[in-house]
Formats: sequence, structure tokens, C-alpha cells
Amino acid sequence: MSDDCIFCKIIAGQIPAKIEYQDDDILVFHDITPQAPLHLLIIPKKHITNLNEIRTENADIISKIFTQIPKLAFQFEISEKGYRVVNNCGKDGGQTVFHLHFHMLGGRHLEWPPG
Ligand code: 5GP
Ligand code: ZN
Repeated sequence: MSDDCIFCKIIAGQIPAKIEYQDDDILVFHDITPQAPLHLLIIPKKHITNLNEIRTENADIISKIFTQIPKLAFQFEISEKGYRVVNNCGKDGGQTVFHLHFHMLGGRHLEWPPG
């Protein structure tokens, strides 16, 4: 746990969040400022700053996160219509919370390219 990390505080139950799923390794909750009818954040319970910290030794967490995504898509009935998974890495990537997370957006047509 990182003391000044908002997502670590959510994991610890110190800040409330609308949690959809959790297990020993990952937590899924609704974004506080949703950009689509469905806007989930999928995070590792272990504090990892961003994708720059992923190595072979900790890459299992990526597999766990991406294995959960199609299950969430099925649960929210967006598998067929489609959805977007986004990772913002670093300041130029648009990252504002420095605890690794993947956005899962769905429920409307999403434009491309991003701004
Ligand atoms: P980033 O910009 O780092 O890719 O995404 C961070 C996301 O975290 C943003 O979409 C923002 O709305 C969300 N967020 C920031 N603080 C909180 C919070 O306290 N609770 C929840 N549920 N989401 C948050
Ligand atoms: Zn953290």
C-alpha cells in the first residue's frame, strides 16, 4: 500500500467506491466521473505505479485483469455491442492516478481517435 494513493485507500476500504468485483489480486469499481454509461476501473490490489513497472515477474496481474474483462462484458451485456479498454500511462498518456488501472468503457458508441 502506498500511503498517498487514492486507489490503495479504496482497496483498504478507507475511501468508499461502488465495487463490482474483487478477489485476492484485483479490484473492479465504478469510475467516480463516468465517461460512458458503463465506466469501470480494474486495478491490481498491489500498488504498481503504471505500465512502466510491468516485468515478467509481475506480468501475471495483467493476465488476471484481462481475463476478468470479458466476464465483466458478459455481466453488463456489452460483449456483442463492444467496449473499450484504456490504459493511460504517465503524464502525456493522461494518467492522473498513479496506481495502475485499466478503464473499461461501454454502453455507447465511442469515437476514435482520442484527443
Ligand atoms: P487516469 O486519468 O489516471 O487514467 O484515470 C483515473 C480515473 O480515476 C479517472 O477517470 C477518475 O475519474 C477516477 N477517480 C479518481 N478519483 C477517484 C475516486 O476517488 N473514486 C473513483 N471511483 N474514481 C476515481
Ligand atoms: Zn496505490
